[in-house]
Amino acid sequence: MAAHGASLLSTSIVENSLSSLKNCQAYIDTGMDIATGVALDLLQTGCEAAEVDGMESVMLEYATLNRDLNQYISAVEETLRKVKRHPPEEVPDLRQLVQTTYEAHQKKNTDEALRNNDKFIQFEDQLRDLKKQMGITQEETFEDDDEEIAVTQSFANFTCPITQMEMENPVKNKVCGHTYEKDAIVRMIESRHKNSKKARCPKIGCAMSDLQISDLVPDSALRRAIEIHKRQRQSQH
Ligand SMILES: [Zn+2]
Repeated sequence: MAAHGASLLSTSIVENSLSSLKNCQAYIDTGMDIATGVALDLLQTGCEAAEVDGMESVMLEYATLNRDLNQYISAVEETLRKVKRHPPEEVPDLRQLVQTTYEAHQKKNTDEALRNNDKFIQFEDQLRDLKKQMGITQEETFEDDDEEIAVTQSFANFTCPITQMEMENPVKNKVCGHTYEKDAIVRMIESRHKNSKKARCPKIGCAMSDLQISDLVPDSALRRAIEIHKRQRQSQH
């Protein structure tokens, strides 16, 4: 009689925990939706491929969690069905039964099955579509594109026609498009004007003959290209 009562009590506890386990599934689903959104945002804002790939492993972790949870739930359900068929005198060790059933499920797990998770497939599809829309392939990212442009730009453009040195603070002449080291060109114009002379563009072959300080604008794109080039040179040593 006492044994019968204990058995009923433990199965009702198990049934209750079963419903909280099923609630966990909703959290995993939400987590996977959030991770998908984050990955799409990362891709759209031009983040590095490594960061987007990082979200893929987050998704696989969720998929693993989801699989394990499902297998645990079905192990519990199978155990409950078995226990209900048992005569009440035999009080089985529920925990042990669930564990054995669960381990039997786990042995059949494969990586391919994990990647067949619905939300994971959805994640991969959405990323692939977005990449196609943005015209990028798996290997390329915006960051890489920028650096490539910087490197292919002629190194001659990095040299100031006055100092003959790589510029640090390049300014562009709005009129003829030539660039100079800011300090050097400003000094040159001021010195010419002090002597009541016109300042010519110091770039050889340029016809611009009346250069004003107001013609100069900072060339931030070139400045960035020079900085990237300098960093690459340093990382090679
Ligand atoms: Zn010029």
